[in-house]
Amino acid sequence: MKRLAVLGQPIGHSLSPTMQAAAFRALGIDSDWTYEAIELSPEGFAAGVAELRERGYIGANVTVPHKRAALAIADDASPAARAIGAANTLSFAPARVHADNTDAPGLIAALPFDPVGARALVLGAGGAARAAAWALKEAAARVAIRNRGAARGAELARDLGVDAVAFEGPLQLADYDVLVNATSVGLADGPRGPLDREEGSDLKALGIAADELSDRMVVVDLVYGSSPTELTATASRAGATVVDGREILVRQGAASFHIWTGLEPPLKAMRAAIDISDDQPG
Ligand code: NAP
Repeated sequence: MKRLAVLGQPIGHSLSPTMQAAAFRALGIDSDWTYEAIELSPEGFAAGVAELRERGYIGANVTVPHKRAALAIADDASPAARAIGAANTLSFAPARVHADNTDAPGLIAALPFDPVGARALVLGAGGAARAAAWALKEAAARVAIRNRGAARGAELARDLGVDAVAFEGPLQLADYDVLVNATSVGLADGPRGPLDREEGSDLKALGIAADELSDRMVVVDLVYGSSPTELTATASRAGATVVDGREILVRQGAASFHIWTGLEPPLKAMRAAIDISDDQPG
């Protein structure tokens, strides 16, 4: 049996086990491969990974709050993981742990167009923003960062060699082809969910004016929940092309699946398993 897991804290709501199990079933390899969710605390992360290796697991996805630690415990890492400073995919060989970051290629794969030369605005400056901005820059987009906390935004822009845009003050959204929400604004924050908050509050937190969203923009929201986020709902109404967080989840999971199995990931089955339609690009 080839065993995989997703490691995080909390981890109970992760969609990855359902999505990866569907991929194994679709390819008829579900009697050989398993994928489960395992909760590990930050203090217990390194020991937890060591135990999985002893028990013969062959790899793991890693999510909040362990992505930096995953890179730190690895013996070697892909250029993406090294440049981003975080890993979401570990592969265990007998004598070594290899780290990858599939959030970055996952974002590019989910885009409905080739971003070469595109003007991209990334909102946020945390781990997700770092991966998104690095991926877009690598794909030859012209990237700018806008973050609530100016110092953190400026630091990320400096690290990656991209522009920083002030959070306060006017924003000309029309100057951008792609808008990526890589903040945690829009995350469901309880049973009421994101759309039950005061209307407009998420856009306000993001510093975005609804009437600046247009049909010539691609709007990517890394946040996902059971309903559209306020950003994706508003962008859809404005006619923008929307890529939602579940599609990014599918694409990063598909890239991890390929690393472990060497097989072509069955995207349709993975999307269906987490309840998204199959009309996404690519
Ligand atoms: P993080 O490191 O905690 O960073 C959070 C970012 O959000 C920071 O830039 C923070 O700004 C900003 N922010 C938080 N609350 C805000 C508010 N009320 N108004 C304005 N800005 C606010 O988180 P992360 O790991 O980067 O993750 C960000 C999001 O991406 C999460 O929702 C995560 O679930 C999602 N994600 C999705 C996928 C996927 O596969 N779809 C993959 C990775 C991450 P400050 O610096 O000013 O605090």
